Amino acid sequence: MRLIVTEKNNSARRIAEILGNGAKESASYKVPYYTWSDADGDHMAIGLKGHVLNPSFPDGYSNWQKTDLHELIDAKLVKEPTDKNVLRALRKMAKDADSVVIATDFDREGELIGLEALSEVLEVNPEVESKVKRARYSALTRDEIERAFANLDQLSYELAYAGEARQDIDLIWGATLTRAVSLATRRFGSNFLSVGRVQSPTLGLIVERELERRAHKPQPYWEVLARFQHPDDAFEAHHAVDKFWKREEADAAVAGTKSPGVVSAITSRKVNRRPPTPFNTTAFAAEASSRLSITPSRAMRAAEDLYMDGFISYPRTDNTVYPSSLATRELVASLVRIPEFEAAAPLLDGKLKPTRGKKETTDHPPIYPTQAVNPGGLDGVHRRVYELVVRRFLATFGKPMITESTRAEIEAGSETYFVRGSVVVEPGYAAIYTYARSADDEIPRLEEGQSLELDGEPWIVDKETQPPSRIGQGKLLEMMEERGLGTKATRPDIIQKLFDRGYVFGNPPSPTETGIAMYEAFKRYVPRMATPEMTAELERDMDEIAGGKTKKDEVLEISRQMLHGTYEEVADKEEDLAKVIWAGMDEDRILGPCIVCERAGRKHDDGSPNMLRIIRARKSGKRFVGCQGWEADNPDACDVTFPLPQRGEVFKLEDRCSICGETPRLKVVPFRGRPWNLCLNEECPSMEEMRKRRAEREAARAAKEDSEKIDGDGASGDGAKADGAKVDSAGTKTRARRSANGRRSRSGKSRSRSRS
Ligand SMILES: [Zn+2]
Ligand SMILES: [Zn+2]
Repeated sequence: MRLIVTEKNNSARRIAEILGNGAKESASYKVPYYTWSDADGDHMAIGLKGHVLNPSFPDGYSNWQKTDLHELIDAKLVKEPTDKNVLRALRKMAKDADSVVIATDFDREGELIGLEALSEVLEVNPEVESKVKRARYSALTRDEIERAFANLDQLSYELAYAGEARQDIDLIWGATLTRAVSLATRRFGSNFLSVGRVQSPTLGLIVERELERRAHKPQPYWEVLARFQHPDDAFEAHHAVDKFWKREEADAAVAGTKSPGVVSAITSRKVNRRPPTPFNTTAFAAEASSRLSITPSRAMRAAEDLYMDGFISYPRTDNTVYPSSLATRELVASLVRIPEFEAAAPLLDGKLKPTRGKKETTDHPPIYPTQAVNPGGLDGVHRRVYELVVRRFLATFGKPMITESTRAEIEAGSETYFVRGSVVVEPGYAAIYTYARSADDEIPRLEEGQSLELDGEPWIVDKETQPPSRIGQGKLLEMMEERGLGTKATRPDIIQKLFDRGYVFGNPPSPTETGIAMYEAFKRYVPRMATPEMTAELERDMDEIAGGKTKKDEVLEISRQMLHGTYEEVADKEEDLAKVIWAGMDEDRILGPCIVCERAGRKHDDGSPNMLRIIRARKSGKRFVGCQGWEADNPDACDVTFPLPQRGEVFKLEDRCSICGETPRLKVVPFRGRPWNLCLNEECPSMEEMRKRRAEREAARAAKEDSEKIDGDGASGDGAKADGAKVDSAGTKTRARRSANGRRSRSGKSRSRSRS
């Protein structure tokens, strides 16, 4: 029997469908597998759940306070199963195998997953060792799978070891420094502060930009505009001086403007925009983020699903050049038969010549649709992502988009004004890649020498210079790629982790004060972890291992030595480092201005608004939100309070909720289970919805518990535990209620509370 091992169940099923007409589905230890027979004999395909083994520290290192970190660094790592049922099923099948095909994804990670699975197989069936082959495919399509199984290859141990080295180094560095920093700041248990080899420099990119924004001093400037009459319609023109840095000069420009204006020059030029290059992972995720507002990690998950369904090619790729073997004409022909994409039909009239990007690799093709499906049949995010991939693919064969921009100058008295417009003359590729099509901005028909009466007086607009904008998630992915931070596979997850740990919030992400402090502390005391250099170096080592030029153990040893030194540095400056981080956490307790004080005209002593902040009551130890404007024994002072869940971490999401506009909005990260958003205003529509969803979940859970009692399987999801923390929040009953006049008054009478 030939055993085929894939990375996920979906790919095992697809391969069974393609290779074994009428394959039979069964399950072992609840893990599905597929069997069929043909002229070559019996076959069996089983899908793993990604990694079946993960490196971890051996027993005896789990106590954070008692473990010497130098010993932790040198501890010999062990492999732990990630899913026991998958391993049991795999071992059971391996016993009957007389040959094995590793058919995991075709990349470093896939090679490692294949090696892990193989080590399990060989433990129960060592004889099969000489009969192991590797199937490498880039799409779950019939052509590609048949080709891969007709040309079986060998497993690349080097590639697998490179993946393994990264895994080990990430674990050792992450665990050691996370423990070191958490211990230094006395953050134990689930309150720990996570540090990561790639995560920390990525946080640095976001923090550096934020610091630039904060350092920005807005400069005032003035713009001058005038309105001219025109037979079609009056229109606005801008003074030829873009920005007046002195108000007097703007005033002089207004005074010098006299009616009528005369059109003195008209210039127009055509601009060609070249069609986009084929999608690699980074460009794909960046476009999904900027054009569709889908976060990189969500876009990647959707792309993986579409790949598993056989709709698009493997989405983790650096390649931006289609291989010549790609049957582009057939593919385009099948795509344009779908009404959504018929705008690309004219492509078939000529020769199909795609654009090429800068990177050309041979492992995977760029991301392209492998099957024409009607996007209407897919659900929301999958539909939008599939459409993006199809439109991009078709666009790479398109003609340039041609726009014509026109600028007219108008002399009025001593001053010159201009109007500018831009019109798409030839949409080219933008007819199908609709995201790229610019809106027409037409100007009235003008002729040189034409006289135009002023329509009223010119006017001045006050403006000020803006700080550099925040880095969107798509752009962040590109910056990580440029700096060699993470891999195409890990980048979206690393960004997500920054959100989960409360180091950044919002979209585009901005850092919390804790996030800023973490980065600043590292930059000052452990520069090696704050900068991308070390990571880039490691990436080069990985490539050397993959290329067989160096050994995994050597790379690990050097990395461990480096970490001993880095940890020494942290230990030496532990107290200073903790102070920086504590100061940041303190800042994060300030949530946003109090709207009640704002409406009552109450301010802080220094004239700044009274802020709402997280306070811990000295007697009960309970935390809640109170206003800075509160004063003991002053009945006129602000006595607004809001309850908080007592367990889990809370982070500020918004100074003021973008949904109700009343109070700050927080993110609550429970010890277990999913983070959720909390608007302090209990009448906020977002909370309304949450209460509804919670009630639904509770009803569903009650139903589930009933059914579990019957079949005796006690596995309960994390969602159940997440709610535990929420129930707590309702227990602290000092809710502010809004009275008829829109002010808040407190229902509880107790005023005994202390400031932290
Ligand atoms: Zn207040
Ligand atoms: Zn709200």
